[in-house]
Amino acid sequence: MQLKNKVAIVTGAGQGIGLGIALALAKADCHVVVSDMNQTSCDRAAAKIKKLGVKTLAVACDVSKKTEVDNLISETVKKFGKLDILVNNAGIFPFVSFLNMTEADWDKVQEVNLKGVFLCAQAAVKKMKAHGKIVNISSVASLIGFEGLVHYCASKGGVNGFTRALALELATKKINVNAVAPGAIETPGLTTAMTKEMKQGTVAAIPWKRMGTPDDIAQAVVFLASDQADYITGQVLVVDGGWTLR
Ligand code: NAP
Repeated sequence: MQLKNKVAIVTGAGQGIGLGIALALAKADCHVVVSDMNQTSCDRAAAKIKKLGVKTLAVACDVSKKTEVDNLISETVKKFGKLDILVNNAGIFPFVSFLNMTEADWDKVQEVNLKGVFLCAQAAVKKMKAHGKIVNISSVASLIGFEGLVHYCASKGGVNGFTRALALELATKKINVNAVAPGAIETPGLTTAMTKEMKQGTVAAIPWKRMGTPDDIAQAVVFLASDQADYITGQVLVVDGGWTLR
């Protein structure tokens, strides 16, 4: 897949799936703006991207804060003169049972996972031209339930609805909006949230008999970000080794 001379932003790119996506885009010859909560992890990711021979920029940004999102987009356009691809990857999944869930727990998850997608997409679309691509990282939790993740499941269901509605609105501008819904992917975020027993149980339930890797998700994102996906919009592509098939 060729993304030569395209410019992409990946949010939450300091580690895990976001870092995997940033690396895969760079391997496809795309210039990549890496963004995350703190500058140190952005700089670390940018150093890895640079080694792949493309241009990069490291911009710290909390996606739930409009001023920081606006700065991310304007810094990108200042350096590269354009924006072709936005990957809304930043997300959090703090396990908490429903009756123990506070209003603050609920709000935090919606602010990062859902409002963050809205803020980044709106600021990005203002700079995008025809053939621009937005790829939102949803989750299989948008399709099935998980105990301890009521707020998260609601937020990712929201991401799917957002993806479909925005795809319709942006069709006249010929900007594609799609989502990738990962299954269980080995990342620092998920690994710390899972016990060894939980992991064994999850692997046993996945027909492919392994957890996914960040690169499994990244390959789907690279495709949806490419011109080969020009006629695909408003879709949620599940990448889960068959986990949700039964
Ligand atoms: P991860 O390992 O926790 O990495 C997420 C990254 O996002 C971290 O670097 C984190 O920074 C950053 N981040 C958190 N809040 C942010 C904010 N407000 N603004 C900007 N960046 C922020 O997570 P992951 O497993 O790679 O997940 C990435 C995405 O995939 C999320 O949207 C998640 O919901 C989705 N997903 C993951 C799985 C899975 O199995 N791993 C499955 C389905 C969907 P800090 O570490 O500094 O907080």
